Amino acid sequence: MAELKSKYDCIIIGGGHNGLVTAGYLAKAGHKVAVFEKRGVVGGCAVTEEPFKGYKFSSLSYVNSLFRPEIIKDLKLKNFGFEMLPRSPSSFSPFLNKKYLLLGPDKKMVHDEIAKFSQKDAENYPKYEAMLEDMAAVLEPLMTMVPPNPGNIKFSDITGLGGFLMGNRKKIRSSWPELMRFLTGSATDMLNHWFESEELKVTLATDAVIGANASPSMPGTSYILFHHVMGECEGVRGVWGYMRGGMGGLTQSLAKSCQSLGVDIFTSKGVDKIIVENGKAVGVVAGSDEVRAQIVVSGADPNMTFNKMVDEKDLPESFIQNIRRINYDSAAVKINIALSELPNFNAYPGIQSGPQHRGTIHIAPNMQYIEEAYSDSVAGRPSHNPILECTIPTSIDHTLAPEGHHIMNMFVQYGPYNLKNGKTWDQIKEPFADRCIDILSEYAPNIKKAILHRQVISPLDMERDYNITGGSLFHGRMTLDQMFHMRPVPGYANYRTPIKNLYICGSGAHPGGGVMGTPGLNAAREIQRDH
Ligand SMILES: Cc1cc2nc3c(=O)[nH]c(=O)nc-3n(C[C@H](O)[C@H](O)[C@H](O)COP(=O)(O)OP(=O)(O)OC[C@H]3O[C@@H](n4cnc5c(N)ncnc54)[C@H](O)[C@@H]3O)c2cc1C
Repeated sequence: MAELKSKYDCIIIGGGHNGLVTAGYLAKAGHKVAVFEKRGVVGGCAVTEEPFKGYKFSSLSYVNSLFRPEIIKDLKLKNFGFEMLPRSPSSFSPFLNKKYLLLGPDKKMVHDEIAKFSQKDAENYPKYEAMLEDMAAVLEPLMTMVPPNPGNIKFSDITGLGGFLMGNRKKIRSSWPELMRFLTGSATDMLNHWFESEELKVTLATDAVIGANASPSMPGTSYILFHHVMGECEGVRGVWGYMRGGMGGLTQSLAKSCQSLGVDIFTSKGVDKIIVENGKAVGVVAGSDEVRAQIVVSGADPNMTFNKMVDEKDLPESFIQNIRRINYDSAAVKINIALSELPNFNAYPGIQSGPQHRGTIHIAPNMQYIEEAYSDSVAGRPSHNPILECTIPTSIDHTLAPEGHHIMNMFVQYGPYNLKNGKTWDQIKEPFADRCIDILSEYAPNIKKAILHRQVISPLDMERDYNITGGSLFHGRMTLDQMFHMRPVPGYANYRTPIKNLYICGSGAHPGGGVMGTPGLNAAREIQRDH
């Protein structure tokens, strides 16, 4: 570990992927940067850990698509071990009647698969994908811009937005109505418009509720669906891949790149306080150390940053009120499972690695199932019949488990952070995991005997152990009321804060969560504008 200095040009609080991206760009621009991470390892929600000897899990996030290609290039991440592993097929949905649906980048395969359920849907699917592609092309430039603040329009906002509107006017003209529907409407309405087969709709709908405590029939979920197709894998839009070595492969490559640029990274070093003097951030207190810096940047979420590390008296009352209004509602549970053999699906039998094991395995038989799963969450209890999204990265990456063995990520919804059944997550997480395994075993009966170890991470564990408020995947809900110029709070979508020289760079900032790196990239650019 580097030796701690008493002064840096810039201190980054939190070594999540966004903090590391900001650190890398600032170091590249010549600043002397230190990263202080509270956990024993960098990566935040994008991390590989070994809870059971020999089995390496992407503890929380597990697939990548959104991470921006220019960061990979600018920070030379491929020289430091960054390797994406595309998946084909990318998704497998088994059903209890032994039917199944595979989707992926192979267009002919996808056509034939969807046609098993609906010829009309098979013909519509490429049109739906083309429409998403068109809209992504329109929205993508907005991701790397500072969203204009309607409450205080500046000349630079007008030129920036004007340039964007003029440059994209043809695309905007043709896709505007659809775009508005996507930004404001429900995923169910969107999917009902395009498709008739329940099997296809339910497979696509899970992306609309991932990370959201919402059902697909709720307005706003169609944007979440769209957010998940904004990325790419090795140049192919909307495709999600594994990272070699798990998601920690991504953040370790970032850490190594940062270190090669002279960044000092300190783990197990939580920041307790941001030091503010005369309205300016001038350093941090981390345990017994007080370290000074000209610039302080927080990659922790807005609640952790402003409610825990900054003294209330240093912030305007209206800002504090807005920070307190951020909704962190989340309902995700993660179960990491070590397996002695692959699941043997009734719908697609076999325990040798096959197409059914490579992609995301969706367990949700129909749209009504998701609605009912969500209604339990509204009542403040985990779903009796939860949605399961399972991935088995060892079907492609053999570095993660002993030979012949596998690991499985089980991402589960809904497990609301706020329970209203008089129980705590510590009391219910193991029985809830049992229920999830029972459900999976209806589709793959060998699963129970194949389980060697399991780790259950509840929303409360995410908050306690990974430092994300309410277990919120995205550092705050990703609905329109908390997006663009409203993220994190109105008036502060430009990575600056009411305290001079204090900036934010995490997922709580525009354009939000997911392993994207965009908040970190944008923050670094804005900081360089000021310094
Ligand atoms: C269960 C789960 C599954 C997900 N699946 C996916 C997926 O498959 N693909 C995807 O793209 N996205 C996924 N996401 C979302 C994605 O992982 C996050 O949105 C993203 O990683 C957040 O990155 P970040 O750098 O903004 O913040 P974080 O990763 O949260 O990093 C913030 C860092 O700050 C540290 N910190 C906090 N307070 C302090 C302090 N006081 N002092 C020092 N350090 C501090 C934290 O320990 C943390 O390391 C998932 C998230 C979860 C929780």
